[in-house]
Parts: sequence; C-alpha cells; structure tokens
Amino acid sequence: MRVWSVANQKGGVGKTTTTVALGCLLAGQGKRVLMLDLDPQGSLGSYFGHSAESATRSSFDWFAGAGTLDDPKLDASIHSTDADRLFLVPGSTALATLERNAVSQEGMGLAVSRALTRLWDRFDYVIIDSPPTLGVLLVNALAASEQVIVPVQTEFLAIKGVERMLNTLQMINRSRRHPLPYLLVPTLFDRRTQAGVSSFRHMRRTWPDQVWNSAIPVDTRLRDASARGVTPLALDPGSRGIQAYGSLLKTLLKTHSAPTSPSTGELAHG
Ligand code: ADP
Ligand code: MG
Repeated sequence: MRVWSVANQKGGVGKTTTTVALGCLLAGQGKRVLMLDLDPQGSLGSYFGHSAESATRSSFDWFAGAGTLDDPKLDASIHSTDADRLFLVPGSTALATLERNAVSQEGMGLAVSRALTRLWDRFDYVIIDSPPTLGVLLVNALAASEQVIVPVQTEFLAIKGVERMLNTLQMINRSRRHPLPYLLVPTLFDRRTQAGVSSFRHMRRTWPDQVWNSAIPVDTRLRDASARGVTPLALDPGSRGIQAYGSLLKTLLKTHSAPTSPSTGELAHG
C-alpha cells in the first residue's frame, strides 16, 4: 500500500480535484484505490454524494476513542463509487471538533496510520485529501504519508502561502526518520494570462527542485465533472485537465517507486 497526501494550507487551490483525478487514474490502471477525506468541509465526500453533515460512516469514525474503531465500523466508513476499484471515506463536519479538542490527546496524531495498517492488503493506493488548517487532521495525514502533493494555484497570493506549508513539512520532518518527499504542483494554470505565466515562472525559479516541471491547466471539464459527481476520467478522458493529471501521475510513480510496508515505513516509528 502506498499513501499519498494532497495538502496545502490554502483553500481553493485544487486539492480535492487533484485527489479525485489521481484516484480515478490509478483505479483506471487497475489499482485498488481509497480516497480519504480529512477535510471538515467534506468536499471530497460531497463530490460523490455524501453529505458532510452526517457524522457516521465517515472518516470521523477513524478518530473514535482508542480501540473503538472495530472492523465493522471501519468497513462501514468505506464507500464505493461509480468507478471500479475506486473507494471513498467521506469527511464530516464533526471532524472540526477534533481540531479543537484532540491535539493534546496522546497518540491522536497516528489514528489514520493505525487504521490504514488494517487496510494494508485491501488497497494499493490511499490518497488523503487534507484540510487547509494546521491541526490534528493535517498532522495525521502527513504522518501516514510517504509522499505529499502540494497543489499551488498559479497566482501570486497563493504562492506566498506556500511558505506556510513548507514550514509545516519541516516541522513534521523533525519527528520522522526520513524527510517526507513533496512535490509542488502548479494548478489552475492559465497560459493566456500574464499573471498565470509569471506566477508559474516565479515558482520554478523559487523552488527549482521541488516544483513539477509542468502544470495543471484551467479546464472547465474538471469543474463539470465535480458538478455532476462523476470522475473527470468518466466524463472526458481526453480533456486537457485529465491528460495533465495523467502526466503528473507518471512523474509521481517514477520518482517514488519504492513502496513502504508496515515494517519498513514510518509507521514502525509510532
Ligand atoms: P481545494 O480542495 O483546494 O479547496 P478544489 O479542488 O475544490 O480546491 O478546487 C476549487 C474549485 O476550483 C472547484 O470548483 C474546482 O472544481 C475548481 N478547479 C480545481 N482545479 C481546476 C482546474 N484545473 N480547472 C478548472 N477548475 C478547477
Ligand atoms: Mg477541498
């Protein structure tokens, strides 16, 4: 099993879209994929028709007190989608209560890691859609991951926010044996605008080794897919957006080909 997080402490930069796009592409390649929504806004769950208002059968259950996440409850939190091999754990507004209460609770940062070890042979990939705030949920996502994908909107204000995310990664790395690899992914790129092009160039100059060498273009088909609750692959596999995500996926698979296992991964640490 390989666990990736999609994270950026800014909203509206394409995290949920990236999660769905990578998820459906991997499932389309025959992988068993689980998408995990850790955002209290529950956009990923809503994308597939699950209301964020219902606190049951969601990722909130993964944080129930020690030992109370039994197998039936874990199974119930996992929902199928219309796409073969693509599964989902929706988020819930109740997740927000964890951000307020749980930080001080012992072992709370590893709730997701622990639940995932029990799903180890059921999924090939887990993609975590993270909340835009630094708290117990983001810490859980990063602790469970072997790779972080950071979507960055190609727009100047959004680029400024990247520093915050990089500081968070640095903080997380202090408690890991190996630094967490990450890739900055320029998103919502509009090559026809001066602002888009210069933001993209600025990113490449500022973080030459961390920025993906291409970009995800603005593509209304991605927005249409989410409005209709279908994956962008099902809606239009030839669209520019999904093509770009396909090439991002290739990069991710090439650079990080060694899967972690429960015995060798960071989980052993906790
Ligand atoms: P986040 O999860 O970071 O808040 P989303 O993935 O929900 O961001 O994207 C925010 C909005 O922008 C959504 O309406 C989504 O459909 C749209 N969007 C995201 N990426 C693209 C893109 N490449 N082209 C067009 N619209 C996009
Ligand atoms: Mg989102």
